[in-house]
Amino acid sequence: MTAIQTWIRANCRLAKDKFYWPRSRVSARDYLKFHQEWLGTGQMDVPLLRKMISDVVPMMDYVIQNSYLRHFPSHGKGCNKCGETMDFAEANEPVPEWSSPELHQEMSKKHISGYWQCPACGSTEGWDETLGRRTDDQGRWMYTDAHEFLEGKRAQMMLSKDPGEAHAAFESVMQFAHGSGRQSNWFIEGGTVTIDKVREMSLPGVSTMFK
Ligand SMILES: [Zn+2]
Repeated sequence: MTAIQTWIRANCRLAKDKFYWPRSRVSARDYLKFHQEWLGTGQMDVPLLRKMISDVVPMMDYVIQNSYLRHFPSHGKGCNKCGETMDFAEANEPVPEWSSPELHQEMSKKHISGYWQCPACGSTEGWDETLGRRTDDQGRWMYTDAHEFLEGKRAQMMLSKDPGEAHAAFESVMQFAHGSGRQSNWFIEGGTVTIDKVREMSLPGVSTMFK
């Protein structure tokens, strides 16, 4: 995070959500270089791997955090004003009586709504508004149903002393990113295009690597 972002987070309550979007992600240049070198020399550039991991983790954290806000709002959210853990009050919109059972089920899922309230300072934050601020440049809410998967891979990447294991976890995240289509550029510059370039390099073992 840059100094200005740190300052904004500390000083501007409104900007906090808006600016938190971590611009950091894996650079296309790093990802291609890493695989080109590996293909050329058979050696893994471990420092470059660690750099790519530290580039992608802030974005993973952001998406994981948003996923918890999205799926488990009552798990607690920090107050933008004072930092205290907020309480969540559900305000489910009623699902119309006339709807079919399928539609009823579908609407029940979608109509989680409500707001957080801070027990310390009393400020409130709407669920939709909060998630609505946490969007990408296409206006999509930045969350996933696969947050547990990302958490597991994050732990492996960060904690494993074995570069091979860290690398396998990292590639699983890239594989996940690839599978998520247009959301892939949250995690890597160029998204699927960049990942496909590496796949096309026909690195020995690449077919098993991406399993
Ligand atoms: Zn507060």
